[in-house]
Amino acid sequence: MKIASKIIHAGRSKKWTGYSVNVPVVRASTIVFDTMAELKHATVHRGDQVPYYGRRGTQTHFAFSDAICELEGGSGCALYPCGAAAISGALLAFLKTGDHLLMVDNAYEPTRGLCDKLLKNLGIETTYYDPLIGAGIATLIKPNTKVIFLESPGSLTMEVQDVPAICAVAKQHDIVVMLDNTWASPLLFRPFEHGVDISIQAATKYIVGHSDAMLGTASANAKHWPTLREAGYLMGYCASADDVYLAARGLRTLGVRLKQHQQNALEVVKWLQQRPEVAHIRHPALPENPGHAEFMRDFSGSNGLFSVVLHQGDAKAIAAFIEGMQHFKMGFSWGGYESLIIANLNVQALRTATVWPYQGPLLRLHIGLEDPADLIADLERAFNRFNQALVTQ
Ligand SMILES: *Cc1c(COP(=O)(O)O)cnc(C)c1O
Repeated sequence: MKIASKIIHAGRSKKWTGYSVNVPVVRASTIVFDTMAELKHATVHRGDQVPYYGRRGTQTHFAFSDAICELEGGSGCALYPCGAAAISGALLAFLKTGDHLLMVDNAYEPTRGLCDKLLKNLGIETTYYDPLIGAGIATLIKPNTKVIFLESPGSLTMEVQDVPAICAVAKQHDIVVMLDNTWASPLLFRPFEHGVDISIQAATKYIVGHSDAMLGTASANAKHWPTLREAGYLMGYCASADDVYLAARGLRTLGVRLKQHQQNALEVVKWLQQRPEVAHIRHPALPENPGHAEFMRDFSGSNGLFSVVLHQGDAKAIAAFIEGMQHFKMGFSWGGYESLIIANLNVQALRTATVWPYQGPLLRLHIGLEDPADLIADLERAFNRFNQALVTQ
């Protein structure tokens, strides 16, 4: 089945939906049983999508987990209250005191925070590595390295990793490979086909797709699913049925939304490439983007998120750029239908293993589903305000 059809069918087995098109929202804490035999059956099978206790999910959760597994290719999918919880839940399932973690240098900022604070306090050591390291990751492996964590393209700076090369090295050392696959969503990169053991999604972003719910997923291959699932249960991670329903609803239109986000973003990129203020654009589909060859080899498309580096501009000029925008709002959680912008004036502060080669400010744009002509006009006015602020300093 082609992916566009798969996304329509995924998780919609009659077992979960009953007579309706969509799975109902089933909210539950207590699941009630009539007989000792029923309770015993549920207890024995509580890890296999049999209703047992609200924390372990209802058919709303089971249907959505099935959908993510079908699309990403995992054996099982655990749900978390947000993407950050999925990351901590996955890492804590496979790491213990005395272990060593290899973390990509351009990881989502809260992921770095988790490593530098909580994991460090637990006696888990993190080494950050260059996102472009590829098979060279072998030189960083220690006897106690248990997990290699990837994020590709990485947050803000969009380097694309050589996922199969890293996975091949990890397999030789029996190291678990986790990938934050949020940028690609389940549609643009198939993690398990490239050797990843655990794939993480901030479903908050493109899957929910409407900026109105938070949700995380972590899918695992058959070998690692029992450990991941059990750790999630023990730590009490669960997601609200209402939010899971919104994610399942958003999922059905993910394919068409991504296509439009991609097309709109490429139009905006083309315009930005002509702007004299722009020093560099980080978009995986551009030949100059680090890891572009891997992107062309492994991904089936791009989306609405990319970054622009300007030649110059201080906080005041950036404020002039952003404040007064009509379509682009300032905010973090991209992946909704609307355009967003966020500025970063010190990218180097977010990395320790690599050198960020640009001096000017970075603007991360999320291109929404508005008409790109309106977005370009908005950006043009922003550049005018920006240039005015530069000359009046
Ligand atoms: C947003 C994001 C997360 C965290 O997701 P939340 O649902 O906001 O906790 C994790 N990884 C990446 C790459 C993200 O962009």
